[in-house]
Amino acid sequence: MATGKGEQPSAASDQLQPLRDLYGCGPVEITGTRDALYERHLTFDHVVDVNRATDRQQFESAARSIRDVLSQRWLRTEQTYAAVNPKRVYYLSMEFLLGRSFANNVMNALLHPAVIDMARQKGLDVMALTEMEPDAGLGNGGLGRLAACFIESMATLQIPGMGYGLRYEYGIFRQSLQDGWQVEQPDNWLRRPDPWEVARIDEAVEVRLNCSFELQAGALKPVFGRPSILLGIPFDRPVIGYGGKTINTLRLWAAGTPDYFNFQRFSRGDFVGAFAESLGAESLTRVLYPDDSTSMGQGLRFLQEYFLVACALSDLIRRFRSGNSDWNVLPEKVAIQLNDTHPALAVPELMRILVDDAGLGWDRAWDLTQRTLAYTNHTLLPEALEKWPLAWFEAVVPRHLDIILEINRRLLGVVRSRWPVNDGRAERISLVEEGEHRKIRMANLAVVGSHSTNGVAAIHSRLLRSTTLRDLAELYPDRFNNKTNGVTPRRWLLTCNPGLARVISEAIGAGWVTDLRQLGRLKPLAGDPSFLDAVFKAKREAKVRFANWLKSTTGEHVDPDTMLDCQIKRIHEYKRQLLNALHIVVLYNRLRDSRNMEFPPRTFIFAGKAAPAYTLAKLIIKFINNLAGTVNADPAVGGRLKVLFLPDYRVSLAEYLIPASDVSEQISTAGYEASGTSNMKFMMNGALTVGTRDGATIEMAEEAGEENFFLFGLSAGEVADSRGWYDPRWHYAHEPETKRALDLIASDYFSRNEPGAFRPICDVLLKRDFYMHLADLKSYGETHEKVGRLYADQKGWAAKAAINIASSGNFSSDRTINEYAGQIWRVTPCPVP
Ligand SMILES: *Cc1c(COP(=O)(O)O)cnc(C)c1O
Repeated sequence: MATGKGEQPSAASDQLQPLRDLYGCGPVEITGTRDALYERHLTFDHVVDVNRATDRQQFESAARSIRDVLSQRWLRTEQTYAAVNPKRVYYLSMEFLLGRSFANNVMNALLHPAVIDMARQKGLDVMALTEMEPDAGLGNGGLGRLAACFIESMATLQIPGMGYGLRYEYGIFRQSLQDGWQVEQPDNWLRRPDPWEVARIDEAVEVRLNCSFELQAGALKPVFGRPSILLGIPFDRPVIGYGGKTINTLRLWAAGTPDYFNFQRFSRGDFVGAFAESLGAESLTRVLYPDDSTSMGQGLRFLQEYFLVACALSDLIRRFRSGNSDWNVLPEKVAIQLNDTHPALAVPELMRILVDDAGLGWDRAWDLTQRTLAYTNHTLLPEALEKWPLAWFEAVVPRHLDIILEINRRLLGVVRSRWPVNDGRAERISLVEEGEHRKIRMANLAVVGSHSTNGVAAIHSRLLRSTTLRDLAELYPDRFNNKTNGVTPRRWLLTCNPGLARVISEAIGAGWVTDLRQLGRLKPLAGDPSFLDAVFKAKREAKVRFANWLKSTTGEHVDPDTMLDCQIKRIHEYKRQLLNALHIVVLYNRLRDSRNMEFPPRTFIFAGKAAPAYTLAKLIIKFINNLAGTVNADPAVGGRLKVLFLPDYRVSLAEYLIPASDVSEQISTAGYEASGTSNMKFMMNGALTVGTRDGATIEMAEEAGEENFFLFGLSAGEVADSRGWYDPRWHYAHEPETKRALDLIASDYFSRNEPGAFRPICDVLLKRDFYMHLADLKSYGETHEKVGRLYADQKGWAAKAAINIASSGNFSSDRTINEYAGQIWRVTPCPVP
């Protein structure tokens, strides 16, 4: 984002100013040395005149000074853990969607008063400076963002937790739009040095593979039958708990080679070939796979997953061994949480370590493995369940295949003796999917090799047990449990919405920041006009802030006096951006008829990336953009309807937009969204939800009361029951507005210069409509009419917004992490003195 100094409203320091008096920190005294840190970094790292430093140099130096101030506390945290030897949690995840770190690190370390003073003294524009930090986009969507919220909550709760992930050189692609089509660009986020990370070359680990790699014609090619050793090089990032007492570590691994080049090839004169292997190996952690809710089955991804597991286990076992001599205490000292099946190779890897390296017998190793590992499932979608070709295990990690097959032999023995009648159960539970190309079922492996399998919202955990993992749930009924997701209120309320945070703290004190349940104390104030007025003003302030930011970064105009209605999430058929778009076509038709004049002016905002290989999702983006082009340019609409597709959805965009939004669209086909987490972010920022009874939205509505929610549409049970007979053409034939909307799209009204462009969308909706858009369109429209009527009543709207904020206390990731800690990990806090 190109944002020069001075382009930003200089209100930045004023927005942070009130926080100084709150949150009990008071102005932090800036000592002589601290004060000089920033200048020292400019002078000695950048060798630049303090007065001529660029915004980026200012950012790097400011961030490095923050890290300097925290380093001793960070060290002390690890020293405490080493001395106390508590049980530690390791969170293994292929994704950590961190976003920016500056504002949150400053806030959590309670250094904001110091930063504000420093900025004032030195004439720095804090806003311009924070805009210099690229998002760390090391994830696709909800799953990766959950991992980021979880490690922050662990640090805040003083739990000895560590995140393990990969240091992708390229994160999730940057999205731009050309003629309304998504165009992907590489996200070279490490082009400039990252000020937060610390390379720990001395703590590198070796990863042994039964194959090696070469770069051939620019592509990474495995060479089978030639064993090789990769280096895993750890890069540590501080994870600062709120209050700055505990600073945990996120350890991201980069792939390298022990030998930088092949001497034989080099001395033969093959100078390029001499580096082929190391270049190949280093490519392993080059890029994040951009698929959300689908498993694309690429070989490099399989290697990435094994690389993460091998590095993490080698590292944590080394740490365990340095403090414990008895292997039997492993489950009392180590808890490993697998974020989805991506790190499920931890099952055979831990078995290999215990059996081959430690020399334990099979039964003892198996008991320790199961008691150490736990698995979180994130989806019921069959296309998301990972299955890897058995042949790849054979080629890359043959010992792990042996172990998996032995686990399977014993597993099937148990199943067959418990259910002697062959009803296909053993085949379904088997870790191996038979067929011409045999495959390993990673979800089955994860369930069988761990003591806990959890879903991420009540309905999801229930469906997991009754459908997707039914046979395994019958085999291990006690293993299955629910942990409803949450989000960290430090990033998603305190830091991103300073206006509302102030209003809340003025009403009930600042305790909510670490105990979000306290928001419940706002409930009686939902009838207090002065409180509602303050909530309304905070919303208005956030809308203006968002509009200014959008204008200065993209040139796009949003009117803060319109209702902001947002659907921001990955583009996927099950999330039903198309339902939202169809409804906009319906509204547009009504406006063209000049009906419905009491309609409050609305801005519909979409944002989200589509997986590059997901053709229909990319066409949906194109459709929304064409719809926007037509609607926004039509004088008949008269400013009452505006549609925007904001490119490059990412954490920092969400942080600007969510505080500003009035309506949150959570409209997945019931039974398909495991939990959702943006629904929670919107709720705590005072948006009202239009949603289906799906994922955590169900629990949110229970907390707030359905009368304060806009629920609509088929339930998960109704969706499942109507699968056999559902026919979208019935709705087309019997609902005039549905027919008119679809006919308008089919007539190329939105694709005048691209005839037939949206034919596939009409086909999907009318021929099968697997996600049942047409079934829900009518009740969705009726619900939006209620939304419009309530919005016209400013007081009534503010009261419902206040009740939603007051009812969002359960959806803090602190609550979620407390449940994991108590029920799965059995760990307790380990305060750092
Ligand atoms: C919270 C978040 C998500 C998850 O959104 P859902 O609507 O729950 O799918 C995805 N991406 C980003 C950048 C987020 O902040």
